[in-house]
Amino acid sequence: MGYIKGLFRGLGSLLTGMKVTFREFFTKKITEQYPENRASLKMYDRFCGELVMPDPDKCIACGLCQMACPNGTISITTETAADPQTGKPKKRLVKYEYDLGSCMFCHLCVNACPHDAIRFDTDFEHAVFTRSKLVKTLNKQQL
Ligand code: SF4
Ligand code: SF4
Repeated sequence: MGYIKGLFRGLGSLLTGMKVTFREFFTKKITEQYPENRASLKMYDRFCGELVMPDPDKCIACGLCQMACPNGTISITTETAADPQTGKPKKRLVKYEYDLGSCMFCHLCVNACPHDAIRFDTDFEHAVFTRSKLVKTLNKQQL
């Protein structure tokens, strides 16, 4: 009796498995044909490709992103100069360097920034022959 019960249980389990298999077999396929579809490929909005600074004027050179980064991926050079409006000394950003090769895309820097000066882009094609090429200056527009 136990044998018959086990047989039916096994058959039921097999049919359940086959149901999933057949459902997936007839489901519309969404495989991305990369790199053939490079021109039309759209990554998910939340995909972290590389850190960018769209508007360097937003950065107040506070260094919070650098401090939040757990592995020293961000290096900021600052200077103190007189504010043209108030005449008071004010810190300003000179150079913002980001080493894509050591970034682990944890997003801690973006979360730490109080002025939304940095964000992650969805660009993911970063192959280079030398690691030094992965060190990027994000405020190039200012230099
Ligand atoms: S994502 Fe993480 S590892 Fe990359 S720069 Fe930001 S804090 Fe550093
Ligand atoms: S990017 Fe944001 S957190 Fe980093 S130094 Fe500039 S303002 Fe501060």
